[in-house]
Amino acid sequence: MTPAAQELSPGEPRTVVIKVGGSLVSDKRSDDHIDHDALRDYAALVAALATARPGRVVFVAGGGALGHGAVRTTDAPGPHALLPLTQATFRVKWAWAQALCAAGVRAMPLQVAAMAREDAGGVRTQTAVPAQLLRSGVLPVLSGDCIVTADGSLRIMGSDEVPGVMVAEDFAPVRVVTLTDVPGILTGTGHDSPVLRHVDPDEADPAGAFFWPTASWDTSDAMRGKVQALAGHARRGAECVITQGDRRARSLMHLFSPMECWPDDVPHTLISRVPAA
Ligand code: ATP
Repeated sequence: MTPAAQELSPGEPRTVVIKVGGSLVSDKRSDDHIDHDALRDYAALVAALATARPGRVVFVAGGGALGHGAVRTTDAPGPHALLPLTQATFRVKWAWAQALCAAGVRAMPLQVAAMAREDAGGVRTQTAVPAQLLRSGVLPVLSGDCIVTADGSLRIMGSDEVPGVMVAEDFAPVRVVTLTDVPGILTGTGHDSPVLRHVDPDEADPAGAFFWPTASWDTSDAMRGKVQALAGHARRGAECVITQGDRRARSLMHLFSPMECWPDDVPHTLISRVPAA
């Protein structure tokens, strides 16, 4: 049973949208690769979280090799050139849904292309189906997709943008957690450099000074694209976190704890209108 907002502890999110980045389960330089062993380990962690907090977890699969590959290899002209992306990301969702079901949860892949569209006023979403799934204790499995725009053409909605579909009053307070291959925004060029603790979503530009050049095979602008998307969710009221995935982690239960109670050995960057404690 999903708790009412007043039944939550201070700082506890009602809904956690967890994204596992494609860099953790595939080699993104390839066009067609899924590391099924890594995916199985992360699916077990997500399944345990969803079982402990039924109806309060939404999963987003990073596109990884298949998602980036579909965008890289698109050569068809015209407004529907991106259509193969919906097939590629559905393959990724299906792999995740199978692994999550094998790990003991009922998981259901949903096509974001059928839940979101864009017009002059911005992105419009319909969340009746994920809401119904959550009420039934089913884990919605989303991914990046191509969505239709006002003139009928398609545009990419990347997997870091997708959690925004769930940033709505019905699910609030919402925490978006993106697990990736770095512990947050690193303030130097090495993986052991200090992690930027907080980004003000209304003043996100200074973080740009830390972004590394984007690799040629990357189609979503890596950390720059991620921060831009998460800052947008944070401006709409979500609390967004970038942290490193660890397939051998004991649990992900801290994702429901107030930020100040997260374990010391989990560095992260918080993007939120509420500053880090
Ligand atoms: P996907 O979008 O395919 O799901 P992902 O979410 O795991 O993948 P990226 O979106 O590529 O990962 O973002 C993580 C990458 O951002 C890192 O692997 C790193 O190369 C890049 N990056 C750029 N600047 C920084 C920085 N200052 N600190 C940390 N990582 C950075």
